[in-house]
Amino acid sequence: MAPSKVLAGARVVLPTGTVDDGRVIVDGTRIVDTAPPQAQVVDLPGHWVVPGFVDIHNHGGGGASFAGGTAEDVLKGVETHRRHGTTTVVASAVTGDLDFLARHAGMLAELAQQDDIVGIHFEGPFISPCRKGAHDEQLLRDPDPAEVRKLVDAAHGHAKMMTLATELPGGLDSVRLLVEHGVIAAVGHTDATYEQTVRAIDAGATVATHLFNAMPPVGHRAPGPITALLEDERITVELINDGTHLHPAALQLAFHHAGASRVAFITDAMDAAGFGDGRYLLGPLEVEVADGVARLVEGGSIAGSTLTLDRAFKRAVTVDRLPVGDVVAAISANPARLLGLDDRVGSLEPGKDADLVVLDDAFDLVGVMRRGEWVVDPQLG
Ligand SMILES: [Zn+2]
Repeated sequence: MAPSKVLAGARVVLPTGTVDDGRVIVDGTRIVDTAPPQAQVVDLPGHWVVPGFVDIHNHGGGGASFAGGTAEDVLKGVETHRRHGTTTVVASAVTGDLDFLARHAGMLAELAQQDDIVGIHFEGPFISPCRKGAHDEQLLRDPDPAEVRKLVDAAHGHAKMMTLATELPGGLDSVRLLVEHGVIAAVGHTDATYEQTVRAIDAGATVATHLFNAMPPVGHRAPGPITALLEDERITVELINDGTHLHPAALQLAFHHAGASRVAFITDAMDAAGFGDGRYLLGPLEVEVADGVARLVEGGSIAGSTLTLDRAFKRAVTVDRLPVGDVVAAISANPARLLGLDDRVGSLEPGKDADLVVLDDAFDLVGVMRRGEWVVDPQLG
């Protein structure tokens, strides 16, 4: 087991606020409140210590896919995102053939069982052809509760979330079925009206999948899903803060409306995240990544991001000028609570897993600890 450590002299972001010259004490895999004898002191003056990041919507990284890869590929992607601060990740599938998705979910469930990922997000196939984004139109289907159930069952208790176009036939029954099975129902890739979205929320939907992206815009006589999702306290809105998916003012609008406690920063990353430009597959579709922007080869739709959450963090503080505490809420605490994992992760408190990120004074990542072990050691930087 790793020796106990005292991270000292940093600005530490706690649920109660930021402590200058704070300490985080790690014993074994956990955060504790008193330093054991012979603990190693790691001095981090001028640095920030924040909770490890929690990504609820991520399709891959490091050249490897969560949506179509082998178990080995998934682990490679998980490791890549870990090096960028994401210590908790939900693996997102994309639209595919139902039998393929069920088999793939079985493989991902084994990785969840081993705690490499914390669960599975099914994005598609039950989404709207009008708002399909980078999903294969041939494979889209209306949300039939029996088919939804087939995927949930295939995940052996590790299905965490499903994105649905809830206005389609079977949509509301599918939302209810998901909620009954403890799976988050997320509204997304949707062409719903305001009223249809309200009905989905009343049926139990609690997440807006990448708010603004792949849904109708706000109109003054047709306020649409965005308005319904922003105004309802029961909804957490996902935002992709990569500077490509959202105008900075749209991000501000979401923060103002929903408040910092209802925003979850996600990457929606695909394989090129933490890797580089080139040709990739997203599910069955070909994607070209140029200058860090992923687009379908056919049609040019944006096809996920190449974002890592450390970049989303830095951007939120330095470009969007959000308070660090709000960014920590959106990138760690809120998604942890949404997943029901806030007893273990999402904040720096005694008893919780020692999952944390060290940032320098320019908000660049210099250290990552997961379960008490350095993934990126700030002393080697
Ligand atoms: Zn996605």
